[in-house]
Amino acid sequence: MLAEMITVGDELLLGQTVDTNSAWMGEVFATHGIALHRITSISDDAEEIVAALDEARARVDLVLMTGGLGPTRDDITKQTLANYFGMELRMNEEVLQRISAWFHGRGLPMLPVNEAQAMLPDGCTVLPNPRGTAMGMWFDAPQDGRSQVVISMPGVPYEMKGLVEEEVLPRVLSKWDLPTRYHRTVLTQGIGESYLSKIVHEWEEDLAQNGVSIAYLPAPGQVRVRLSAVSTDEGAAQRRVDAAMEAFLNLAGEHVVADGDTSVAAALVELLTQRGETLTTAESCTGGAMAAAVTSVAGSSAVFEGAVVAYANAVKVNVLGVDASDIQRHGAVSESVVTAMAEGARERMGTTYALAASGIAGPGGGTPDKPVGTIWIALATPEGTEARCLKLGRHRGRNVQRTVLECLAWVLRTARSRNTH
Ligand code: AMP
Ligand code: MG
Repeated sequence: MLAEMITVGDELLLGQTVDTNSAWMGEVFATHGIALHRITSISDDAEEIVAALDEARARVDLVLMTGGLGPTRDDITKQTLANYFGMELRMNEEVLQRISAWFHGRGLPMLPVNEAQAMLPDGCTVLPNPRGTAMGMWFDAPQDGRSQVVISMPGVPYEMKGLVEEEVLPRVLSKWDLPTRYHRTVLTQGIGESYLSKIVHEWEEDLAQNGVSIAYLPAPGQVRVRLSAVSTDEGAAQRRVDAAMEAFLNLAGEHVVADGDTSVAAALVELLTQRGETLTTAESCTGGAMAAAVTSVAGSSAVFEGAVVAYANAVKVNVLGVDASDIQRHGAVSESVVTAMAEGARERMGTTYALAASGIAGPGGGTPDKPVGTIWIALATPEGTEARCLKLGRHRGRNVQRTVLECLAWVLRTARSRNTH
């Protein structure tokens, strides 16, 4: 069974509203084994709507539409659909009652344009929308002996989501006998998509044959890898994905930092919580971004003691106990300073681990021997302190983001390997 999405609205094409409806729909339908075949965005224009519908109906069984159902003159989707399917707009008394109750509940007067929202195509199935005044509409439109459905929903994201969950999905899942989809995700860090793909090249070639598909979902510094299989037998889909994942982990396991749809920070908080260990950070160029990443995870208070944002040299010296002569001799961006920052923080906060970062995030401040993107990081542990030099790019925001990831993944790997001792 194939589905397509059509989003209607001038604002989508003008860049005033980002089409988040399609992204959400694609994800939700995929978890139910329904692939969105195509996403089309069009303006509030009857001809465009008709053309997009004709095209989509030639390709797929289910057409999902959002937008153009508001009470204002620019919203013409409902009238266009009625004309398209040869239906009349009729006052739906039940819907009129709903809409009037909606206004009554908010202490607002009901305007004639809102009353008109109860005028609905007489041949469609109304999908009640308790969150607003625009109802969803389900049109059965069989073609050449095979069933086909067009569904129109309001554009307001939370109204659309409510309709999909409460009305659309239950009906779609009972109408079509669908295979189930099973998927597993792992998060890799510190290796680019193309390098990763090279490592697993041969394994990847056999995947399709084994009925497993792979998706690489890259973000700065990390790549999420998702394996999925579709089958009418859920157990079979799971076995295929598990076998493929095991082979993937054998090849690229050293680059994997987390299992599942999680983040490096969340995986770190979970691991340290299990181990009863704690963390602090001493941050120069990241300006507290490491602390922010860790504390964005619910439950991080169990493992995170606090942080020192040691931006100025005086703070590195006075708060963290870095030797002023070290800064003078080697510069603030150096192995010895970042090592002292991590050790000073670990000692003062009394934590298991301390991370430190000091670098030139850019775009200014580079020198020939320390160009922009030179970032020293250190990790202090009960076994001692290690420092590494990252050579990143020229973009300030990405440099900070990648440093944070690199550092958090470092603690994660270190804590895991200490586990096996
Ligand atoms: P409408 O049903 O056209 O009256 O849409 C109402 C509001 O929903 C618009 O003003 C947008 O802010 C929002 N909206 C419409 N379409 C989308 C979409 N595809 N993604 C996210 N928001 C949308
Ligand atoms: Mg609109």
